[in-house]
Amino acid sequence: FDRMKQAVTRTRETLNDSIGGFIALTREVDEGTLTDLEPILLAADIGAATSAQIIENLRERALRTGIEGGTELKQLLKAELKRILDGVAQPIRHPDTPPEVIMMVGVNGTGKTTTTGKLANLFSQQGRTVLLCAADTFRAAAIEQLEIWAQRSDTPLIKTKQGGDPSAALYDACTAAKARGTQILIADTAGRLHTKTDLMKELDKMRRTAERLIPGAPHQTLLVMDATTGQNGLQQARLFTEAAHVTGIVLTKLDGTAKGGIVLAIATELKLPVVYAGIGEKIDDLIPFDSTTFIDSLLD
Ligand code: GDP
Repeated sequence: FDRMKQAVTRTRETLNDSIGGFIALTREVDEGTLTDLEPILLAADIGAATSAQIIENLRERALRTGIEGGTELKQLLKAELKRILDGVAQPIRHPDTPPEVIMMVGVNGTGKTTTTGKLANLFSQQGRTVLLCAADTFRAAAIEQLEIWAQRSDTPLIKTKQGGDPSAALYDACTAAKARGTQILIADTAGRLHTKTDLMKELDKMRRTAERLIPGAPHQTLLVMDATTGQNGLQQARLFTEAAHVTGIVLTKLDGTAKGGIVLAIATELKLPVVYAGIGEKIDDLIPFDSTTFIDSLLD
């Protein structure tokens, strides 16, 4: 909880200073109050559509029963944010028999390889066996970088050479995971391809390869997004959600950004839950995302 709180400090300052000021000044909540609240939500990168929706719901409430003052407004705002985040939560389809296959997708530079390493470490610490697959054969340093993370987390790694066929690497990794009885296989994939069609083709081929060897695989497809890129990141994410059957988001670099509100824009605009948050560059700087903790850290 404390680590989440620290990570969203800057978002909290942006949101809370303004809301705090609001509460101090607000005796009763009227139309003007709500109009003034909207830009505060936008400043935290909650997104135009989401902010408008929140304001509209608060307006309805104000008309129906009235809103007492700042304190009640804050409570209602919390409830609004929670409803949005919980509305997109999805149960994870864990397989009956291992391995569980997790595919990591996303644009280069978002922290995909780092997150793959951190996840391997997180699962290992939970006592689960993990195998990593370096299937980002497009970016020059991605394979070596993942090797370093594999060493750090003491996780075995299956790789192919740069420029090789990522599906071939995944095939080998699936075969190895089955043979070894590994519980979780995490595959890092390429983050940049020439066109959306290329991206779709490659990710589809990988999915089919995994599915053929392990029924139901990939069980999770996690899209890695950089919180600091705000609304631009959202645009890029759309491409991946169309191409890759994404089941959840890993939001990286939540430390050091005032744009933590992007979590809400992701929920409204992509209809996807954030499942993990990256809060630094070190191996244990990844935490499972919890909506209540996040909202409390944001507004308390
Ligand atoms: P990829 O190209 O998507 O595989 O990105 P990398 O894994 O190489 O990460 C890009 C940069 O982001 C690196 O310098 C990482 O250390 C940094 N990074 C990744 N996750 C986080 C995070 O949660 N917080 C911070 N502050 N930096 C991160």
